[in-house]
Amino acid sequence: MAERMAARANTSGATGTKAKSAKAKAKAAPKRKTKTGSRPPAETFGKKTIALVYDFDGTLSPKPMQEYAFLPTIGESSADFWKESNRIASEQKADPMITYMHLLYKKAKARNVTINREALVKQGAAVEFFPGVEQWFDLINNYIAASPDSDGVSIRHYLISSGLTEIVEGTSIYSNFHNVFASEYWFEAYELPYPKRVITDTGKTQYLFRINKGVEDLGASINEHMPEAQRPVPFSNMIYFGDGDTDVPSMAVTRKNGGYAMAVHPPGKAQEKCTKLFEAGRCDFFAVADYREGEELYKRTCLLLDRMLADIRVREEMWNLTHG
Ligand SMILES: [Mg+2]
Repeated sequence: MAERMAARANTSGATGTKAKSAKAKAKAAPKRKTKTGSRPPAETFGKKTIALVYDFDGTLSPKPMQEYAFLPTIGESSADFWKESNRIASEQKADPMITYMHLLYKKAKARNVTINREALVKQGAAVEFFPGVEQWFDLINNYIAASPDSDGVSIRHYLISSGLTEIVEGTSIYSNFHNVFASEYWFEAYELPYPKRVITDTGKTQYLFRINKGVEDLGASINEHMPEAQRPVPFSNMIYFGDGDTDVPSMAVTRKNGGYAMAVHPPGKAQEKCTKLFEAGRCDFFAVADYREGEELYKRTCLLLDRMLADIRVREEMWNLTHG
């Protein structure tokens, strides 16, 4: 939660085209499906889906998403809100995520501000992003499509956030995600909206395994054993993008299972946190959160993608030896 208290500056107002090459469109995975669909037939090598998985607050947007509209709407300063939320969580030994979700609506009610689901979605339009984020998804899709090693490979972008699903739905980048896993409210159940799903730092790892196993329907259990051979998206096809300590469990799970992790820090701000993550072996690379083509983040991500594409080809060739 300390990350939530750190206000971050330097946002990008840049907007770009949504143009995609025909090849990229053909290769980009279908969007916004909640299930992965049918398993590939046994006669083909089925592990050719790459998943880029992002944290939201501090990774894609400079500030926690609630700070762009929700807190101003209820007349609350960001610093005061997170300070109070963290104090209550500490005093009550309460989960910090449940505490903030409860406190938001408690304050809205006290100030006679009604914020329903539709209003939260509308707030998403106010969320700002680091430079280049809005163009990043097409950029990466096009990079994969243009690679000579990407035949049959598809690319998906996922979001796993302890922020609010409803706000994410209203952002300009929502349609780029194959699936979004975020905290969510239950608006009808009680007088105050009640947490329907709360995604904690360690809880995020559940969703990595859902991607890995292809069990993205949240109504389905993730705990049943699935042999590695049956998992459609191996961790070695994943890159997790995060910005701090709250991402350590996800980075650790991804890397320990053969995947990759990228840490980012705000433009013009200290990279100390990233350096510590790197030195502790939590991430493969770190870079400034500047998502524009040609910047460090782009180049290092492409380097990981090149390795990933080569690995997929090697594993496919090995698979062909035994199944061909
Ligand atoms: Mg974050």
